[in-house]
Amino acid sequence: MNYTRSSALFVQAEKVIPGGVNSPVRAFKAVGGTPIFVKEAKGAYLFDEDGNRLIDYINSWGPMILGHAHEPVVNAVVDKAKKGTSFGMPTEIETQIAELAVAMVPNIDKIRFVNSGTEACMSAVRLARGFTGKDKIIKFAGCYHGHSDSFLIQAGSGAVTFGAPNSPGVTQGTAKDTLLARYNDIENVKQLIDANPNEIACIILEPVAGNMGCIPPKEAFLEDLRSLCDAHNILLIFDEVMTGFRLAKGGAQELFNVNADIVCFGKVIGGGLPVGAFAARNEIMEYLAPLGPVYQAGTLSGNPLAMAAGLAMLTEIHNDSELFNRLEEKTAYLHKGIAEALQANNVTHTINRVGSMISVHFDKDPVVDFDSAAKGNNDTFKTFFHGLLNEGIYIAPSAFETWFITDALSYKDLDDTIAAVRVVAKTL
Ligand SMILES: *Cc1c(COP(=O)(O)O)cnc(C)c1O
Repeated sequence: MNYTRSSALFVQAEKVIPGGVNSPVRAFKAVGGTPIFVKEAKGAYLFDEDGNRLIDYINSWGPMILGHAHEPVVNAVVDKAKKGTSFGMPTEIETQIAELAVAMVPNIDKIRFVNSGTEACMSAVRLARGFTGKDKIIKFAGCYHGHSDSFLIQAGSGAVTFGAPNSPGVTQGTAKDTLLARYNDIENVKQLIDANPNEIACIILEPVAGNMGCIPPKEAFLEDLRSLCDAHNILLIFDEVMTGFRLAKGGAQELFNVNADIVCFGKVIGGGLPVGAFAARNEIMEYLAPLGPVYQAGTLSGNPLAMAAGLAMLTEIHNDSELFNRLEEKTAYLHKGIAEALQANNVTHTINRVGSMISVHFDKDPVVDFDSAAKGNNDTFKTFFHGLLNEGIYIAPSAFETWFITDALSYKDLDDTIAAVRVVAKTL
């Protein structure tokens, strides 16, 4: 495949944008080469600046669950745009999408819209701290909750009591309030709670981890976290920015039948426009300004274009009772096809999958947490990535990312993808 124009555009971009990208995951740092510049997209396909057609397994990192340029979403945005793009005043559509979200998601009474998943998680933690009057939070190594300071803390070694900043610019003062636990390790969480009595405001996690590949919660892990939170007056925050409106209408809360105290959204809820949201029961949400003392605001929050895209998206998802079954079946089909292609060529691998989230790891052991995800063979991944790209299949340029399956994929697309894996597997 020819990427001449993409490469030239990247050189130009690098001169005026740090690293040539507005979000680091878009750069090809982990796999080598230069990013593909996309020109347009429709359904399951991306069309790049060199005229290549790629089958897309990133789907804007999740939002395009119904495919690119999905007509009801596009039409809703175009219609709204003609009537003004921002007012800084309340609009009816904000209530409409809030009503729909509250109807679809279990256990929430009120929802507040923001502009990104980062903002949603950052605000949820502030609310949890304000509500409980406690400062510390527990997060899990390998879980991503956006780029706000409290979350940019990575696992050092073993039982960490005080986190160490892993991005310069995050102060020690902030880092010391973020405690790190191992995903799927309830004993580790208990130790942290015991070591910090009456200090922990919340535990935040991805109920299915999606930012270290796809890692399902172990049997009873979510239930045990719920019980620990209840016993210690800690709020449980599900970061459903990835899983919300993807794993079920009501997200992971519905799929696993475990209630969180605060739920964060992003990605699908915006239908491809910049939207995040956080939601909880009345008692908690009423702690938020202007009703309560915890401040949170946004000039463009609830923006009419963003709300139009989100409302159109959620409406489609709400009205399509077969959507999640179709997504499950397509992803299971892909899972089986990839596994067979890799096995036939004796490629050591582990595939994790929950619903329409799937990841391929080049390691024989189960991938259950950050450490087991990190030990996969990155050289094999690089060859896999570039091999697939050459075959017209676009997966995320990092071994730590989940593939997002869109309903726009046909079985022919899935067969083409599996055929491509068969070709690439011979080179691994
Ligand atoms: C993408 C993501 C975020 C951050 O959302 P942005 O819109 O990129 O700020 C937070 N949490 C999870 C689980 C995510 O996948």
